[in-house]
Amino acid sequence: MRLLVTGGAGYIGSHVTRLLVEQGHEVAVFDSLTAGHRAAVDVRAQLIVGDLLDKEAVQRAFAGAPYDGILHFASHIMVGESMERPFKYLHDNVLATMNLLEVATAHKVERFILSSTANLFDAPQRIPINEDEPLIPGSVYGETKFWGERMLHWMERLYGLRYACLRYFNACGAHPDGTIGEDHHPETHLIPLVLQVALGQRDHITIYGDDYDTPDGTCIRDYVHVMDLASAHLLALQALEDGRSRVYNLGSGSGYSVRQVIEAARKVTGHPIPAVVGPRRAGDLPVLVADSQRIQRELGWEAEFDDLEKIIASAWRWHKTHPNGYADRV
Ligand code: UDP
Repeated sequence: MRLLVTGGAGYIGSHVTRLLVEQGHEVAVFDSLTAGHRAAVDVRAQLIVGDLLDKEAVQRAFAGAPYDGILHFASHIMVGESMERPFKYLHDNVLATMNLLEVATAHKVERFILSSTANLFDAPQRIPINEDEPLIPGSVYGETKFWGERMLHWMERLYGLRYACLRYFNACGAHPDGTIGEDHHPETHLIPLVLQVALGQRDHITIYGDDYDTPDGTCIRDYVHVMDLASAHLLALQALEDGRSRVYNLGSGSGYSVRQVIEAARKVTGHPIPAVVGPRRAGDLPVLVADSQRIQRELGWEAEFDDLEKIIASAWRWHKTHPNGYADRV
């Protein structure tokens, strides 16, 4: 297929792009490079530098041969920032998706995959969380993904666009060959921050609260490997052939506490990784674990990286060889 990947220079988008070109798809990456990295884009993909907020730039990206499908990763992604700068998120994330959908439907694109989020489950009634759980965004960021899902609902009804919304839990890890990985500025995610301590870039990791109602008092999350997320995108793309749109929750199915992550990182890196308990972070839920049985049952997806040490070892390979991220590859 000929595919457009927005945000293909970002963390998850770059891993999916790599897999798509390896499977023989023709990929055009559309990325503003404000958060993404040129060096993250596979050389076999075309890179179009542009901003989804610029509708003419989006239209120009559609000027060539038609796209068989779109994978939409481009987004602001920080939950905390979205609560401090709500209009940045509401404006940019929603308008970007709207511009993309407006141009895509005008060009009769038939397949669309949206990067969605576990931040849609702010008040889960059941853990692990399946797709029947009521959608209650936990932040302005989550709200913008919710709107993305809602826009797709109408695009299907009005234009026959088939879509898959993939709700990632805690994306982590790096490509096994260590050439692409996670590089956010600023970094806010637990695993890269823990590994920055092992690299000597930070003195310690702060645990955001150890008085939660969990076995060791720290929050439990479902860490799903970026390569497993990538394979889910390929399966979802193929599955759209049957004409049915779908939503899937994507996690590894296991929950690990913050303390377990730090302990696993100590084993993998051999570094003592000092940890200091700090106050809770606003908005954190005690437990977020996905029930991914639907995608397993319907598409045969399996999380290959189901072991925390294996996951952290793959992230470590990337961070150890690229302590300054993509700046080390220029
Ligand atoms: N966390 C922490 N210290 C940090 C960063 C994160 O204790 O420096 C915790 C955070 O409270 C959450 C878990 O680690 O319980 C995962 O956080 P992350 O920001 O990686 O992902 P989120 O679950 O917020 O999407």
